[in-house]
Amino acid sequence: MQFRIILNTIDAIRVVGDDRFTMKDVKARTVFVPPRRDRGAVSRCIVESGLRPTAQREVVYGVLLDKLDHPTADEVFLHAKQEKPDISMATVYNCLDALVKHHLVKQVNLDRAATRYCPNMHEHAHFQCEDCGGISDFEGKPKLRQSGFKVPRGFKVTHSEISMRGVCPDCAGKGKLK
Ligand SMILES: [Zn+2]
Ligand SMILES: [Zn+2]
Repeated sequence: MQFRIILNTIDAIRVVGDDRFTMKDVKARTVFVPPRRDRGAVSRCIVESGLRPTAQREVVYGVLLDKLDHPTADEVFLHAKQEKPDISMATVYNCLDALVKHHLVKQVNLDRAATRYCPNMHEHAHFQCEDCGGISDFEGKPKLRQSGFKVPRGFKVTHSEISMRGVCPDCAGKGKLK
């Protein structure tokens, strides 16, 4: 199993993915995550985040709330198109950008693959299976003091992110059958 920890200090702006977003304004917060099919709740959450609830934003947020296993923007687009055939890739990018900026969704960058999106705003770590590529959320707060990392003097850590790799239970089970 491999670990990767990303630390963001208060002054460090980590440019993520294709340089369109920064992590600086992404704060972890506890949010009510509406059930996927409850469109009223989906649009209420969008309103509460300070965004205007457009049909496109509702579709994109709805797609992310469908348990889609941390989809990439391309995957979000394919699913959004099924519900709203006239939606464009550019619109999907704009919606994702707005949802990230308003803390409804966060970006997940595992290795060098395309940026993925996660609607779970509770603190959690990501686990990616090296076999099937599936991504799981592990709830919990990383405790830096107990992690073995020594934060040098002068650095103030405001956010940490942990990603792990290994084998999921399904793939581990398959391995035994071979
Ligand atoms: Zn996640
Ligand atoms: Zn697996």
